[in-house]
Amino acid sequence: MDLWEKSVEFHGHSCGGLRIGYAAARYAMELLEIGFSDNEQVVCISENDACGVDAIQVLLGCSIGKGNLLFHMTGKQAFSFYHRKSGRSVRLVLKPKPLDLTAEESARYYFDRSPRELFRAMPVTIPLPEPARIFDSYNCECCGEKTGANWIRLVGGKKLCLDCCESYNRFDV
Ligand SMILES: [Zn+2]
Ligand SMILES: [Zn+2]
Repeated sequence: MDLWEKSVEFHGHSCGGLRIGYAAARYAMELLEIGFSDNEQVVCISENDACGVDAIQVLLGCSIGKGNLLFHMTGKQAFSFYHRKSGRSVRLVLKPKPLDLTAEESARYYFDRSPRELFRAMPVTIPLPEPARIFDSYNCECCGEKTGANWIRLVGGKKLCLDCCESYNRFDV
């Protein structure tokens, strides 16, 4: 199975949106000389949460769980890629689609062009985020559930999880 077929299988269907992310990932692989990342070496900051992000996960191994897929939501078809080891990075922005295409040309547009034709490559605007950190955790003093320190709130001298903190604020008036 080639990388495109793998992307379609992961995403669930073939569509122009998926092809955009696929092209962005291919271009980033070429420009930054990177491949699939089994660790956090390759980082992607996507400016949308549309179909294309799924191809980036498949081709580059950027995922929510590994902490190397991040979102900076502007609603643009733009993606920034970083390679920690080499320090290389690039922001890829989709060029506008020509307005004079027939319906058929329009449907084929993202499939018939090379990544270089589809995207504008420019310097990144967001600095490379620090690697995902493991936080200490505490047991919430209300529900008793183990909660990452970053999400514990101190309310009336008690360490509470966000859910308990919310009900505490609601009832204690
Ligand atoms: Zn789709
Ligand atoms: Zn709780």
